[in-house]
Amino acid sequence: MDLHKQPAHVLHDMLKNKEIKAAELTQCFLNRMDSLDGKVASYITKTADAAMEAAGKADEIIAQNSEIGFLTGLPGAIKDNICTKGTKTTCASKMLETFIPPYNATVIEKLNAQNTVILGKTNMDEFAMGGSTENSAFFPTHNPWNLDYVPGGSSGGSAAAVSAGFAAWALGSDTGGSIRQPASFCGIVGMKPTYGRVSRYGLVAYASSLDQIGPLTRDVTDCAHIMNVIAGHDASDSTSINASVPDYTKSLVQDVKGLKIGIPAEFFTDGMDKEVAAAVNKAIEDFKAMGAEIVEISLPHTKYAIAAYYLIAPAEATTNLSRYDGVSYGSRVEGEDIVSMMTNTRSEKFGEEVKRRIMIGNYALSAGYYDAYYLKALKMRTLVKEDYDKAFAKVDVILAPNAPTTAYKIGSIINDPLQMYLQDVCTVPLNLAGLPGISLPCGISSQGLPIGMQIIGKALDEATIIKTAYTYEQSKDFSKKLSEVAQQ
Ligand code: GLN
Repeated sequence: MDLHKQPAHVLHDMLKNKEIKAAELTQCFLNRMDSLDGKVASYITKTADAAMEAAGKADEIIAQNSEIGFLTGLPGAIKDNICTKGTKTTCASKMLETFIPPYNATVIEKLNAQNTVILGKTNMDEFAMGGSTENSAFFPTHNPWNLDYVPGGSSGGSAAAVSAGFAAWALGSDTGGSIRQPASFCGIVGMKPTYGRVSRYGLVAYASSLDQIGPLTRDVTDCAHIMNVIAGHDASDSTSINASVPDYTKSLVQDVKGLKIGIPAEFFTDGMDKEVAAAVNKAIEDFKAMGAEIVEISLPHTKYAIAAYYLIAPAEATTNLSRYDGVSYGSRVEGEDIVSMMTNTRSEKFGEEVKRRIMIGNYALSAGYYDAYYLKALKMRTLVKEDYDKAFAKVDVILAPNAPTTAYKIGSIINDPLQMYLQDVCTVPLNLAGLPGISLPCGISSQGLPIGMQIIGKALDEATIIKTAYTYEQSKDFSKKLSEVAQQ
């Protein structure tokens, strides 16, 4: 049996039933990474020794217990903006190339409490700014379905690692789509939880009012299990929500009868790829056939979401990134005096896109423009959120495309920042509104690339979107399809 082809829950059952050992499973993933990650480039740091040690410990626990945590001994990958004590956390930036965090993010503590196995830290757009993983300061990641294409981003390394069979599961972060869009480009499942559902403590901040950690997995079942591990209140994160967390595996039932699914016309934009629109429309028909009620809804302020996001996110990034001054955090490039030292440090250690965002953010926050740009963007954000409040008075979930296109070729649009930003049209509204969304495969294009759709839920109602996604997934075999690299 090819272990790497199995979803995490199948591997979990095998570990629990003592059919395989965690050490054997970990070695399988490490061997694949050694022989094949040269082509995909999904990892920045591989932690093979620590992984084997953790696997040995997990095997001892499994030998002594009949009940184990879902992630016990189950090898996964972590996006390189989530702090891991003693292991480099670079954010794919030269600024943090040598940064070794002295503490773990809360999510890592939760994973460790389950005695999981961490295989390494995955590539991303620098400081999570981008949608293709081409903005990594180190190297681009390739899409395991076709190596000439991007894996999406910014959690492209995590998505590619799961899709290529280099990890059974992964964590990413989503500020404007960075979990959902790479999941859809790589043919896997990704969830952005409600803002505040998963602790951000130890996630290197990009835009603090939008950032959220979530799982990237092979299927919806794995997503539910990992949400059970990582969700919950954390006193170390002041924006964490103090609400009880349901058992998400209870949502793994096939039932959409009478479920009201809203379809927002505004998401089917002119620039939408025909095959993507067709696949999502087919899914709508499938839901109807399964007994769901399809309701046309309007989210009229969607057209302002990109503009609002690309002011708010850079404004917050400007503030967050000001700590990299060559003194308290980050690398240092010496200069004649303190000002030239800081200038040299930031000039050399930040990449182009990060600098662009810092400039946009500073401009939007500057005295003369604050009201015209930043304040206006905050007002637009409120209007976007109100659209969803109104829609959710009528429907249970909203179904929409995830991205206007499938994955595109490496190098094809990276030099056109505006076009890059426009790609985020379907994903950023949820971050502005703080809502949960799950991305799952719903088709394969004529070029053999995966197509994804997203199911959006009410705040804190991850359970319903998991149930909706699960029902669809069980009726199709898209989640079972493997990428080119996973088949090797
Ligand atoms: N592509 C978006 C951006 O560049 C989203 C990134 C993210 O979610 N981290 O900001």
